[in-house]
Amino acid sequence: MVNYDLIVVGAGITGKATALRMAQLGLQVLHIAPSFDPGFNCNESGRWDSRIYALSASSQALLAKLQVWDAMDHSRIQVVSDMRIFGDSTRFDDELHFSAYSATVPQLAWIVESSHIEKTLDLATQFQKGITRITDTVKDFMQHTDSIEVHTEKSTYQAKLMLAADGARSPTRERLNIETLTNDYEQTAVVANFAIEQPHRGTAYQWFLPGGEILALLPLAGSYVSMVWSAQREHAEEILKMDAKTLAQHLLMAGEQSVRKHYPTLTLVTDPQPFPLRRIRAKQILGTASQKNASQDESNMTPRIILLGDAAHVMHPLAGQGLNLGLRDVASLGELFEARESFRSIDDRTLLRRYERSRQGDTDALLLVTDRLQKLFSHDSEVLKGIRNMGLRLLNRSDFAKRQLIQKALA
Ligand SMILES: Cc1cc2nc3c(=O)[nH]c(=O)nc-3n(C[C@H](O)[C@H](O)[C@H](O)COP(=O)(O)OP(=O)(O)OC[C@H]3O[C@@H](n4cnc5c(N)ncnc54)[C@H](O)[C@@H]3O)c2cc1C
Repeated sequence: MVNYDLIVVGAGITGKATALRMAQLGLQVLHIAPSFDPGFNCNESGRWDSRIYALSASSQALLAKLQVWDAMDHSRIQVVSDMRIFGDSTRFDDELHFSAYSATVPQLAWIVESSHIEKTLDLATQFQKGITRITDTVKDFMQHTDSIEVHTEKSTYQAKLMLAADGARSPTRERLNIETLTNDYEQTAVVANFAIEQPHRGTAYQWFLPGGEILALLPLAGSYVSMVWSAQREHAEEILKMDAKTLAQHLLMAGEQSVRKHYPTLTLVTDPQPFPLRRIRAKQILGTASQKNASQDESNMTPRIILLGDAAHVMHPLAGQGLNLGLRDVASLGELFEARESFRSIDDRTLLRRYERSRQGDTDALLLVTDRLQKLFSHDSEVLKGIRNMGLRLLNRSDFAKRQLIQKALA
């Protein structure tokens, strides 16, 4: 059995970034996933992935550090320079406007296709020394005094630690019986891309619609926008059944026709795709895997499993922050390993507890803010409606508060 420093499980963006960052620190990494293929070839001209992400400055910084950012095709990356958020009243001034220019920053975010990031990361991991890739599925794992043993469908591997980035349904989290705080929003996000005739000027629009739905139109490189419509389940099913013309028409009528004001013509260019929306917070991100039925006291054992990305936390996409938070998990762990004292190995218990503490504030704060915003805007009460829309208006008048929010978001 070959011994590795780390076994990374999962080949989503979090898993690939983790494997790359760890190998760039000189660690021997075994990367296991059922498939490494991003599944969509965005290099074929004229094709656009309907899964897109708003990347924050922290994600861009990590991708740059991994030497992936410069390798990406920048003609497919759109800078967001303005963000306009509308409340659910009919008042024309219930709007919150963030501007990179007013905040004296180069941009508020970048919009990138998911498969574009995955493909570039995939190429980088293939060429990176220190990564062994195995196309396989993890079936079970158990830990010994100094190592963790991972059983896949085809073989068994051993390492000091296992980093699980195996997504929102994380089989690792399940196997460890880690409890979660879970909240089903009973909404489905429908995503699709549209061609536009009016220039978007790098503006991202978001409408809080009556009934708690949230519609975002994000600018894509060229003359395209990406729709993320967080709709009630039944409405989402209706949207998914609509033909291209009916859907475009339906979208133009949204937000009291406010969409039409900004984009008079919309032409569907990708098939709409659904994503059920939940909030999940793992109560622990470090895990200990004793042998099944063994009578070991787990509290005395060194945790040898770390949950990262959606395996640790899933949130509503209204703030476009889920992946950004997962990539900050990767960046934090990388920094801790890099800066560790020479007498500490990567499975040092103090080091792992430091990591756990370092992620708590960021994760709790983002999950709380997105959850509260979703709830605030899904209430029917007229009083709350008045308060939330007034909140938007007041915040919009304070350049200082907006600058503070932007600085925080860019940190
Ligand atoms: C509509 C929508 C819009 C969003 N927009 C944004 C945005 O603008 N910005 C943002 O930051 N975030 C956004 N998010 C959140 C983002 O999509 C997720 O946070 C991100 O995709 C999570 O990536 P991940 O790598 O952690 O998990 P995943 O992408 O789910 O990857 C999990 C991996 O684990 C593998 N795996 C599973 N089981 C096993 C096993 N047993 N053995 C081995 N491997 C296994 C899978 O094959 C897969 O490769 C959005 C989410 C939604 C739903």
